[in-house]
Amino acid sequence: MEVTGAMKKYEDTYRHKGLRKKLVDGLREKGIRDERVLNAIENVPRHFFLDSALDNIAYEDRPFPIGEGQTISQPYTVAYQTELLNVQPMDKILEVGTGSMYQAVVLAEMGAQVYTVERQKALFDKLKNFKLKNKYPQLKTFYGDGFEGLPTYAPFDKVIITAAAPYIPPRLLDQLKPGGVMVVPVNEGDAQRMRRITKEEDGTYNEESFQMFSFVPMLKGVQKNN
Ligand code: SAH
Repeated sequence: MEVTGAMKKYEDTYRHKGLRKKLVDGLREKGIRDERVLNAIENVPRHFFLDSALDNIAYEDRPFPIGEGQTISQPYTVAYQTELLNVQPMDKILEVGTGSMYQAVVLAEMGAQVYTVERQKALFDKLKNFKLKNKYPQLKTFYGDGFEGLPTYAPFDKVIITAAAPYIPPRLLDQLKPGGVMVVPVNEGDAQRMRRITKEEDGTYNEESFQMFSFVPMLKGVQKNN
């Protein structure tokens, strides 16, 4: 029988599961502590989000190209941001920068309700027939400019930005619930400083700074198909 690329791609074998376990061990060594985050990463088949050609290296801790000049974030970065977000089951989370949808699925796997926005139509369209989407009815994808957020669905418990922000988008702060948390990599020199902003119950903001990362840029407006 002929095995097509498509058939191969959606097979989650013992080998894949073994590689994921190793990846999670590596993340633990790198300092990730939240067992719920590590569990989600162990459960989500990252190779489903990548071109079949990358199947053998999908569980290396590095970013990969997903087309349109964009990348799927490094697992360490996904784990780090997710840990900072302190995700609770049923949290309503806005993600800016759907990309491959890997980060969004990790959040959904943790029981969150996920609203993810992508500005590139080509990437957004790619996800329409993505098999894994059926598994997470509480994950919703939107085509739009993340700087605007999703006012119709606001307020959110959490906001996560997975592209390099030139500044903390004010509309997204507005769309946070009191007590809500935003995790965002903000430009600092040639890279980004991970920041966490907590909206206190009295409406004031508390800001914390973490380590540096490297993301693709968060851009204004949307990009239509050519
Ligand atoms: N979370 C993704 C990472 C994708 S890379 C994953 O897990 O695969 C960042 C993505 O942010 C890119 O797809 C890029 O097109 C998108 N992006 C950049 N600026 C944006 C904006 N203003 N609104 C929505 N998406 C944006």
